Formats: sequence, C-alpha cells, structure tokens
Amino acid sequence: MQKITKKIKIKNLWVGGDSPITVQSMTNTDTRDIDRTVTQILELEKVGCEIIRIAIPDEQAVASIEPILNLIHIPLIADIHFDYKLAIKSIEKGVHCVRINPGNIGGAENTKKVIDAARLNNCAIRLGINAGSLEKDLLKKYGVTADALVESAIRNIKIFEENNFENLKISIKASSVPLTIEAYRKLAQITDYPLHIGITEAGTKFSGTIRSAVGIGTLLSEGIGDTLRVSLTANPIEEVKVGWEILKSLNLRTRGVEIISCPTCGRTEIDLISLAEKVESMLSSINKHFSVAVMGCPVNGPGEAREADYGIAGGKKQGIIFKKGVVVKKVREEDLLDEFYKIILEEINE
Ligand code: SF4
Repeated sequence: MQKITKKIKIKNLWVGGDSPITVQSMTNTDTRDIDRTVTQILELEKVGCEIIRIAIPDEQAVASIEPILNLIHIPLIADIHFDYKLAIKSIEKGVHCVRINPGNIGGAENTKKVIDAARLNNCAIRLGINAGSLEKDLLKKYGVTADALVESAIRNIKIFEENNFENLKISIKASSVPLTIEAYRKLAQITDYPLHIGITEAGTKFSGTIRSAVGIGTLLSEGIGDTLRVSLTANPIEEVKVGWEILKSLNLRTRGVEIISCPTCGRTEIDLISLAEKVESMLSSINKHFSVAVMGCPVNGPGEAREADYGIAGGKKQGIIFKKGVVVKKVREEDLLDEFYKIILEEINE
C-alpha cells in the first residue's frame, strides 16, 4: 500500500498523498538550444513523461525557460547546482519546481532566499540529497551510509521548516541499490513529505534498467515513492518507458499495451522472438490500455492468449488469433502480424 504523504501541486499535477505515482525524466540537450530541448520534451510527453527537468547551468539557460514553457505541456523543473541566484531567476521565469541541494548553494542563508522566491511564485522545491555530495562532517561521522544520507536530509528539511515552507519533495539518491533502498526506508519513517525516488547514475540502458527496476521496484512495492525518475546513460525516452514498465508491473498505473510473451522453447515452431518484438513496436504508440499475449505453442499458448484481451498462439508455421478469449482465426505465419494488427485496430478505432 502506498504510504500517504503530504500532497504538493506542481503546475497542474499533484505529487504525494493518494495521487498516482508520476514518471519524470530529464532532458540531455543543451538547455540553451531551445529548439532541440523543446523537441525532446515533446517526444518525451508522447511516451508518457509527466514532469520534465532541465539543467540550468548559467544565465543563458535561464533565458531559455520562458520560450520552453510556452511550447511544452508538462510541469517544468529547473535543476540548479552551486548558484542560488540561478534558482531564484528560474523561479521568476515561471518554472514549476526547482531542484536544489542547500549544501552546494551556500547553506541556510541562500536557501532561505530561494524559499522566499518560491513562496512568492507558487513554485515547489525538490530537496535533492545525493551520496556524491554529502556534508563533510557527516561523511566523517558515518561514511557514505544511509544514516549519513538521512541525517543530511533531516538537517536540510529543518531549513525549510524553519521558514514555514511545505511545498517540498525530497530525494535521497545513491548509485548503490541497497544503500538507496535503506536510505529511503529510513527517510519514509521519519518524514511525510512526498518522495522522489530513483537510483542515481544507474548505468547504461541494460544494466541501469535492471538496477532501477530492482531499486525503485523494491521501494514502490513497500509503498515508498510518490514520483520517480529512472536515470539511464541513454536517450531519456528509455527512462520514461522503463519508469512506466516498473509502475505497470506493480499494477500501480496503467498505460498503453501490456505485452505478455513466452520465453520460447523446443516446442516453438514459429519465429516468436521476432514476432513478439514486432508486435511490441507496432503497438508502442497506442495509449489505450489492453493486454496482448504472444505465445509460442499450442500447449500453454492458447491458455495464456485467452487470458489477454488479444493473443496469438503459435503452431507449425501458423498461429491462432484470439480476441477476448475467443478464437478469431487461424493464420499463416507470414500473415500473422498484419492480421493481428488489423483486428486490434478495428477494435481500438470503434
Ligand atoms: S508457451 Fe509453449 S512455446 Fe512458449 S515456452 Fe511455453 S511451452 Fe514453450
């Protein structure tokens, strides 16, 4: 069960409380290149990105905020490091949230100035604690541990509470999966602020996906996490797709087509691996939620295929197409994909 946290609003989107868990990403374009950044954000919107973060390294990047805001549809977060003035300027330009780490923008004094600007402009703040930039005294006391991360979070939350600012969400990330899980578990016990979860610097598409699925999935299955970002050394579109798959696999959100496919074995008599990949890519742009089973053989295949909204069960160079548990037709292998697509399209266009 989802742990009930406080609820904050980022543009028109609620984060926390009983709100759906949202999928975020971050652009990897140069923010100063408005066209490329907007193009990437619009592509990310199409695959289900619900909140987008952009890096704001300098004044020129701040100048891109307004034009970007005018062309996108989802809430925009400015990612700030080192210079609190960039956070204030980004807030004044209309971003819906800023991500800061008080430790690297000059501590409580400068954080207060960012808080004042955020309050005035109805902007949320994400307090981002990162294992890579922990305070020196905490590192000395604990080393890079969950206790150090949590104490850093507590210390920084105090700055916001002393300034009566509650429009806050928190992340406490590390690249180690067990460390991240332990830190979030501890943090979830002591705070009610919404939590942004993820494994930072998780790695390349393959290993990062697995590490993120294990880390984020473990936390979500324990009810921890209100919004998530999968960090991959890859096109951010992959981050969003992976984020959604994690949520879908835990039945926390639904979106698009859920593909069930068998691993193939010695009984498979059609080219199922390529068929399943083609089915997945053919249906990837459909937002309507339904399930599709692509099964290799007539032994277990029809049973699974019947459970799904649509299904294919392979046979000897042929396949049976099912729709809602009923056999629709038997088709030759070479016509299977086209016939299957036709049947699904008829249905979703109804
Ligand atoms: S569904 Fe059939 S082909 Fe696929 S793994 Fe199971 S037994 Fe093998």
